[in-house]
Amino acid sequence: MITRDMLLKILHNIAKVIEENRQFLTDLDAAIGDGDHGINMNKGFKAVEEKLNSLKDKDCGTILKTTAMTLISTVGGASGPLYGTAFLKASAVVNGKMELSSQDIIKMFEEAINGVMMRGKAQRGEKTMLDALIPAYEVLKNSIESGKSLKEAFQDAAKAAYEGVEYTKTIKATKGRASYLGDRSIGHQDAGATSSYLMIKTIAETLD
Ligand code: ADP
Ligand code: MG
Ligand code: MG
Repeated sequence: MITRDMLLKILHNIAKVIEENRQFLTDLDAAIGDGDHGINMNKGFKAVEEKLNSLKDKDCGTILKTTAMTLISTVGGASGPLYGTAFLKASAVVNGKMELSSQDIIKMFEEAINGVMMRGKAQRGEKTMLDALIPAYEVLKNSIESGKSLKEAFQDAAKAAYEGVEYTKTIKATKGRASYLGDRSIGHQDAGATSSYLMIKTIAETLD
């Protein structure tokens, strides 16, 4: 179970980790994109961080919806609307809830991925954030259903997301700016898959 206090703590820690990896994410994007992914993400999560105090008494749905709307309105580039959609779809699952059950979390993750796929018109294997998110979701669901704690399940999911990031090095981008490079995108890891991995790892580390 994730309480709303824990949810706020997770968002705070994600903002911190994104800030720490601002340059790293930007450098990854510079190699095969336009070199702004870290800047975009940091701008968005800094704005989210500034709202966390005012969300203390709100339900999980409102916390996540505010996060979504903040990302959509502050992040330039593809990642803003995509991550915004992910948080918005996840928020809709838990409208009014003061805590999140393991089943809620599976459903939120599923809806978030469907939202990204729809908005980005992308599938797994196109060298995007989906190559970290989808394997992470599958492993998370499996681990929860096999009786592991939520922390263990997110640790497993983080490992799967990391492997997904490694996998993006081996494939050609067919969506987003990196797709302009065609075969020359091979050999580089995707910036968005990397930020997704960092977020999932941060959830695992924040849970007790
Ligand atoms: P931009 O490419 O507009 O500069 P960012 O650099 O912030 O935006 O984000 C780029 C990341 O967004 C990519 O690394 C990739 O993971 C993700 N991305 C781009 N296009 C899509 C898409 N159509 N579907 C899913 N993810 C995408
Ligand atoms: Mg970019
Ligand atoms: Mg850009």
